[in-house]
Amino acid sequence: MNQDLRLMPLSALQHYAFCPRQCALIHNEQAWADNYLTAQGHLLHKRVDSGDPETRNGIKFERAVMVSAEKLGLTGKLDLIEKDLKTGKLTPVEYKKGKAKAGNWDKIQLCAQGLCLEEMTGQTIEEGYLWYWQTRKREFVAFDKNLRQQTLDVILQVKNIFLSGSLPKPKYEKKCKACSLFDICNPQLIEHDNSANYIKQLFSRD
Ligand code: SF4
Repeated sequence: MNQDLRLMPLSALQHYAFCPRQCALIHNEQAWADNYLTAQGHLLHKRVDSGDPETRNGIKFERAVMVSAEKLGLTGKLDLIEKDLKTGKLTPVEYKKGKAKAGNWDKIQLCAQGLCLEEMTGQTIEEGYLWYWQTRKREFVAFDKNLRQQTLDVILQVKNIFLSGSLPKPKYEKKCKACSLFDICNPQLIEHDNSANYIKQLFSRD
């Protein structure tokens, strides 16, 4: 397939914002491994996706909605869209395992969902919600100028990593402990591995 025409999955943005190497391992190298966190995530999304559309208090709830935005180059499935039947206002809601994170990778994925809906409907999507399984709380997320720009930057960076097929070097950090690809990535060993440079130097000697 021509890489230029490939629509990127929305999930790749969250993977990239969490760790560019994780994004490349999953989407360029097709590496995947479940840990208890990803297993919880699958279970949660299975439950969310299985709900039927319903209407309550003038709001229609549409679950597991496929979106495709060619200009942005994105595609994916939205957990839930709330539609206000009076105003037509659309609000994306993304379900997450765990609790609100210090990093903004969940917000970037949600904002990208809003941008997809904007491209598809022409409506300005001003906000969304992240619903966290562990805390049973939903967090309001405003799609402000700052978050929109961060999201557009990540879309561009993911596009570049897809086109280049590159695999960034690991950087061992606290978040690596929660990464399902820890064993495949091996960050502590590879971060300081200079064998590639050594081999390069060896063959460049006269
Ligand atoms: S283990 Fe760390 S460096 Fe490796 S992919 Fe996961 S988060 Fe990134």
